[in-house]
Amino acid sequence: ESSIVTVHGKLETATQNYIGGIARMKKVVKFGGSSLASAEQFKKVGNIIRAEESRRYVVPSAPGKRFSADTKVTDMLYGCYAAAENGEDFTEKLAAIKDRYQEIINGLGLKFSLDEDFEVIRKNFAEKAGSNYAASRGEFLNGKIMAAYLGFEFIDAAEVVRFDENGDFQSEITNEIMSARLKKAKNAVIPGFYGATEEGRVVTFSRGGSDITGALVAASINAKLYENWTDVSGFLMADPRIVNNPKKIKTITYGELRELSYMGASVLHEEAVFPVRTSGIPINIRNTNEPENEGTLIVSNEIKHENTITGIAGKQNFTVLSIEKSMMNSELGFCRKILTILEQNGVSFENMPSGIDTVSVVISDSNLKNKTEIIVEEIKRACNPDSVVVYPNMALIATVGTGMAYTKGVASKIFTALAESDINIRMIDQGSSEINVLVGIENDDFEKGINAIYKAFN
Ligand code: ADP
Ligand code: ASP
Ligand code: MG
Repeated sequence: ESSIVTVHGKLETATQNYIGGIARMKKVVKFGGSSLASAEQFKKVGNIIRAEESRRYVVPSAPGKRFSADTKVTDMLYGCYAAAENGEDFTEKLAAIKDRYQEIINGLGLKFSLDEDFEVIRKNFAEKAGSNYAASRGEFLNGKIMAAYLGFEFIDAAEVVRFDENGDFQSEITNEIMSARLKKAKNAVIPGFYGATEEGRVVTFSRGGSDITGALVAASINAKLYENWTDVSGFLMADPRIVNNPKKIKTITYGELRELSYMGASVLHEEAVFPVRTSGIPINIRNTNEPENEGTLIVSNEIKHENTITGIAGKQNFTVLSIEKSMMNSELGFCRKILTILEQNGVSFENMPSGIDTVSVVISDSNLKNKTEIIVEEIKRACNPDSVVVYPNMALIATVGTGMAYTKGVASKIFTALAESDINIRMIDQGSSEINVLVGIENDDFEKGINAIYKAFN
């Protein structure tokens, strides 16, 4: 539309009405840390927002890395607060954080001071306000700068994103408060990543959680589109840090995205899908450094892909317990016993593929901690299995695609690719949704395995 705006006279009025119509199509734009790491990046972001009037609500992350060895402001805040909590002098650490913001403010030529904010933060750190509060300041301060830069209203997320006393997110009340508040704001900046309890105690989402805030804002105003701006030109078929120059995915369903992001494709926080999925708001992943690229569109309806598979993702550091017992399938309550043992040990599991006489339990090492021996002992005692074999140092790779259900030979193609690369498959599981084939291989084979599967389908 920007090309029509230059026309004069009557046509201009018509164009303005047209643009007005577009403006009523509200979009929410979320920018990730690397998109806001410096004044240069802020300028790109400003241009993107100003290019479309419909981009009315902005959700910023904290400043991320400016170069690969740099530190994200969020991590600086965690570090600074840890020092404060230990009763150490945290003056320098806090000054380094302030410098990051000052550099942005200066680079943008803003007459805007964060002195008072930093004084409040210093006091609260000294009074041990909590690491959630500490981390949230990254987005809070960046949001203030963004609002000043754009001339948009600043709305503190603590006002509109609600958690309960246990720190659990409250979706319904958040939606109510947020939509009521945003009705009063034509344009606004709402910092990502955090919210607060009714009493005002700040609580953050898990890392990468600004994606969730963006989705909440989009849902609360029933946006036409949720644009998620990052540093890659969309969702790629595989992690670009593992596969060299992977192909971009043009369209992907919420379901596929959820599988891929859950399995480690960290482009979008796995929980960011829920708020928009229910209201059918599409998500568009875009690149701040290449705004002309259309990116990836995430939609609800099933779509045909040029490829059988949509993407590949994976995670490392799992342990697989493989339990064997003949006639297991006819024994009542066998799996329940296993699950009870896990539950009593406070261990949640990832996956539980089973065969006629075998069942495997896949547990991430961070959940398992050091409880392998106890759990194996208890399973032996309670279930009297023929054997329990423990496979440590495992990686899981998920090959995902709605097209798989209609295509023969996908699984065999995956297995052949892995075999030809000399990789042992320890576990296979096809999700009941038929959009996901999961394989368990050794940690050491992880990158080789992802590359092998990628090549087999490209
Ligand atoms: P932001 O700070 O903008 O939220 P993130 O770092 O959270 O960005 O996510 C973008 C990064 O996700 C990319 O830089 C890339 O390294 C990584 N990534 C992992 N898997 C994929 C994938 N399948 N497609 C694109 N990016 C991926
Ligand atoms: N700044 C937070 C993080 O680094 C949240 C986010 O970027 O989404 O995890
Ligand atoms: Mg992110």
